[in-house]
Amino acid sequence: MKDDNCIFCKIANGEIPSETLYEDGDFRVILDLNPASEGHALILSKEHYRNLPELPSQTAAKVLPLAGKIGKAMMSELSAKGFNVVQNNEEAAGQTVFHFHVHIIPRYANPDEMLLWKPGKSTEEGLKAVSEKLRKVL
Ligand code: 5GP
Ligand code: ZN
Repeated sequence: MKDDNCIFCKIANGEIPSETLYEDGDFRVILDLNPASEGHALILSKEHYRNLPELPSQTAAKVLPLAGKIGKAMMSELSAKGFNVVQNNEEAAGQTVFHFHVHIIPRYANPDEMLLWKPGKSTEEGLKAVSEKLRKVL
């Protein structure tokens, strides 16, 4: 399924040209236009899915192996010291393009690079309460 109003549908399916690193029947991997660091890549599904909960499990199963392959290439070819795999779901989580994609962000141990989150504090009761809520639907 494609969405005529979706820019990532057009990029993933080659209607809009992009700097493509890799392509197969399920995905196109491109460079992000506003990179967090040099080489910041995006894995786009070729089919239109809003985000991770909509992605079929057969397609989802291929995403992490591909992310690992891209990250490994960033370390060997771009001399990255590591990489982050980031995937935003819904506006509250920073999703701005509502077509499934995964960010692969090479890290060069540069202090200016973004920090993903600031670790907070937990209590045993707090962890237990959250865990009980989630466990019952999983
Ligand atoms: P999100 O915030 O939805 O997880 O990430 C969307 C990403 O897509 C952003 O990092 C943004 O820079 C990138 N982006 C948005 N439009 C385009 C585009 O037309 N081409 C490319 N290559 N990247 C885009
Ligand atoms: Zn789309």
